[in-house]
Amino acid sequence: MRHPGLPQAWAEVLVDCPGLETPYTYEASPAIAVGDVVLVPFGDRLVGGLVVRIVSELAAELDATRIRPIHEVVAQSFFQPHYWALLEQTASYYQVSLTQVLRVALPPGLLRRSQRRIRARSGTQPILRSGAAQRLWPLLQKNLETGYSWRYLCQQHPQASQGLRELLQTGCVESYICLGKSTQAKQQLAITLVQPRSPHLTDRQAAVLAQLQQLGGEVWLQSFQEQTGASRGLLDRLSVLGCVAITPKERLRSGLQTTDLSADQPRQLTPAQAAALAQIQQAGAGETLLLHGVTGSGKTEVYLQAIAPLLDQQRSVLVLVPEIGLTPQLTERFQQRFGGDRLCLYHSGLSDGERYDAWRQMLLGGARVVIGTRSAVFAPLPNLGLIILDEEHDSSFKQEQTPPCYHARQVAHWRSQWEGCPLLLGSATPDLETWAATQGAEAQTRYLALPDRVEARTLPPVEIVDLRQELANGNRSIFSTKLQQALVDLQARGEQGILFIHRRGHSTFVSCRACGTPIGCPHCDVSLSYHLDQVLNQSLLRCHYCNYTQAQPQRCPACDSPYLKNFGSGSQRVEAEVKRLFPELAVYRYDSDTTRQKGGHQKVLDQFRSQPASLLVGTQMLTKGIDLPEVTLVGVVAADGLLHMPDFRASERSLQTLIQVAGRAGRGDRPGRVIVQTYCPDHPVLTHLLDHNYAQFLGEELQERQAHGYPPAQRLLLLSCRGLEEAVVMTAAEAIADRLHPILPAGVELLGPAPANIARIARRHRWQLLLKAPPETDWQWLPLTDLRVCCPKGVNLLIDVDPLSF
Ligand code: ADP
Ligand code: ZN
Ligand code: ZN
Repeated sequence: MRHPGLPQAWAEVLVDCPGLETPYTYEASPAIAVGDVVLVPFGDRLVGGLVVRIVSELAAELDATRIRPIHEVVAQSFFQPHYWALLEQTASYYQVSLTQVLRVALPPGLLRRSQRRIRARSGTQPILRSGAAQRLWPLLQKNLETGYSWRYLCQQHPQASQGLRELLQTGCVESYICLGKSTQAKQQLAITLVQPRSPHLTDRQAAVLAQLQQLGGEVWLQSFQEQTGASRGLLDRLSVLGCVAITPKERLRSGLQTTDLSADQPRQLTPAQAAALAQIQQAGAGETLLLHGVTGSGKTEVYLQAIAPLLDQQRSVLVLVPEIGLTPQLTERFQQRFGGDRLCLYHSGLSDGERYDAWRQMLLGGARVVIGTRSAVFAPLPNLGLIILDEEHDSSFKQEQTPPCYHARQVAHWRSQWEGCPLLLGSATPDLETWAATQGAEAQTRYLALPDRVEARTLPPVEIVDLRQELANGNRSIFSTKLQQALVDLQARGEQGILFIHRRGHSTFVSCRACGTPIGCPHCDVSLSYHLDQVLNQSLLRCHYCNYTQAQPQRCPACDSPYLKNFGSGSQRVEAEVKRLFPELAVYRYDSDTTRQKGGHQKVLDQFRSQPASLLVGTQMLTKGIDLPEVTLVGVVAADGLLHMPDFRASERSLQTLIQVAGRAGRGDRPGRVIVQTYCPDHPVLTHLLDHNYAQFLGEELQERQAHGYPPAQRLLLLSCRGLEEAVVMTAAEAIADRLHPILPAGVELLGPAPANIARIARRHRWQLLLKAPPETDWQWLPLTDLRVCCPKGVNLLIDVDPLSF
């Protein structure tokens, strides 16, 4: 029974039961806090759970008399309090439940892997009354350090729980929560500094201690001995003197490849780099900075030098990147600078076990620099000194299609405010919305610029080729005369080049010349792309949305005519053309088809780099910050596919892509050159590409967005209904519109319902509504429960706050 006078509290507990989404409510004592691991009654069993919320009032539909109390607190919250505030803020902003946020924030199997353990406190000798306690005591002496699992003891020994209770009461044992047995952990000896000075030390002993201090006070014993040459005898002697402790610690796999990388020293910064670094170091708690540095300006070097002093102060750093597979070079440079022990990777490519290990290591304070993708923004690193988001314009920081549709940049912004550390955003092509926040008198974000490449390298000149002119001159090849000549020169000089094409596959669609019908995917409203399967040596048609694949038909499915033709070039076709025209060039294709296996990206890049005269034909992946210093030529085979996307961000996205692709040229000692082929050479995006003036483009684009009421001038929210039957989906979308129209707050506009740009994907029809609102409005007025009621069974409602695609 609760003490009278104390306020009644209820705890919402996420019960550790597979498939269970909603938290259950239990009666809680005032001592219970969010994040506590608890045991709760569930049916006729006791199961583990995580307290996700404490409420003082019971939801109306719950019957207070039927609510059971929490059985026991297994472990007090191991999260910092503001970590929960961050999760709550994310759930509320993105209009999802806390459970949905927890699903991306916590590693899979967290509760399943946690267990309660018990161990004896060394140096205690209790007087025990019960036989059960007397039997357990000698057992606990055998394993003083890690003790035993509570559950194991209860299974193996009769009356164990009674014995354990007595042992706990005497204070000679302690119970603790162990975050599960990790799959990769190995025990290894570590050496830790305890006392830097002791009166009678020899010079050699003092020097070794000083070295240990320099290395941050704790390192693996073996690597310390290798680095310093200190003998085990000497270190043991220091341990006896109480200056150091040598203890076994868990060493978890960091996700890094253990290749021998040479250590790397900080570079002498350019004046612009030094000025940027100084501003980062002066930044206040929770401040956001944008580092706008042209391609090859040395942004990564600035990150590295901003991080180094933080590590010396025992603070941790979170580095978010768009995709780990695409950034092996960044990871490598971090490893060369800081060593593998202080680095940890966290991304969706890890197995559940590896993810769990990495997560656990962060929580325990083991990892200090975490490089991760989107969901790593929730990495439970203590004592954050800095958050870096590299390539901050990249849309893979936004989760789409599955709730929560969160943007890691937005969450990182809140996190930096909760943690009181700066947030550093870096890009050669900043997002318009990020850049807009650096403008004006009330700028929220500090703007830092690296306007030049390092070592006086210049940005490559851009040449635009008018493909209409080529056709008029009778050139029907996918390469203009100019690009062909450039490739001839490249081959003659033995240099390396890149060709960019924005679609993979061979041809982008197959169409009938008799009736004009393109062959479409049976499950999606898109046409199939033509691929040549080199392993099967077979022509295939493939859907890029649902991966549906079929053999290339001989006749048109609509009119049975035999006149089918392939249109539009993809990376495969460009590769084949190069091979045909330039047999002496080594050609490698870099797209998601050729880099599918683990380490695939690195492999293709390594092969390409090892050849003197070679060409890399690739898609969007080429834009992700790869550093290939030998590349002198970049060719854009067709810019048009990029320029005409049906999206208000099309100009911004296409200019970003083109600048990033162009930026791969001339990063080394030899100057570069960029050739862009297009049917519309006067397109404003290309004009801005020519003068390398991205900031001016942003200024103009911002006015454009303001004129049409798009972000950042207005906020957007997308309500997307999806289901197998089009009529039902449409009716649901209309019901939502009817529900919303009478309650729209002033200034909020509702567009639709209308079919999505691609009206059907993987057999699901999509109808959607778009809400537009002034930037200061929030979405808390949305009647979420009612909107879900508008959707009958079989129709799914996805809410996307600040959507990036439609
Ligand atoms: P960005 O990330 O801006 O594209 P990087 O950080 O990859 O640029 O730098 C481009 C190249 O210049 C890298 O090879 C890097 O080692 C080198 N670099 C960076 N800063 C310096 C510097 N201050 N002095 C000499 N070389 C530098
Ligand atoms: Zn036909
Ligand atoms: Zn499809």
